[in-house]
Amino acid sequence: MGELEVRGSCVTDKCGAVCCKFRVYDDVDKTKFTLRWCEHFNQETIRCNIYETRPEGCRRYPDVMSLVSFPKYEGCNYYLADVSDPILP
Ligand code: SF4
Ligand code: SF4
Repeated sequence: MGELEVRGSCVTDKCGAVCCKFRVYDDVDKTKFTLRWCEHFNQETIRCNIYETRPEGCRRYPDVMSLVSFPKYEGCNYYLADVSDPILP
């Protein structure tokens, strides 16, 4: 595979915007965690309330490195493709 690029777009009704949820680990059993919405996530609009000024980490995702290094969020509409692959409609 040659040079990779990220393709896709956000389709939040498919993924439920799961990337805006964070793991909160149990104080006693560190292997257990619950998922909690980011304080800036608006559950009614399914959008970020501070999108224009969102933190750097949120701006970066998904870049090539994050999709190579970590499992993709379930339902995430982004994917890696070789830059020479045709873009399908
Ligand atoms: S980046 Fe992926 S998981 Fe996050 S909102 Fe967009 S499609 Fe959903
Ligand atoms: S700041 Fe916005 S984009 Fe970043 S996790 Fe929170 S709701 Fe999602």
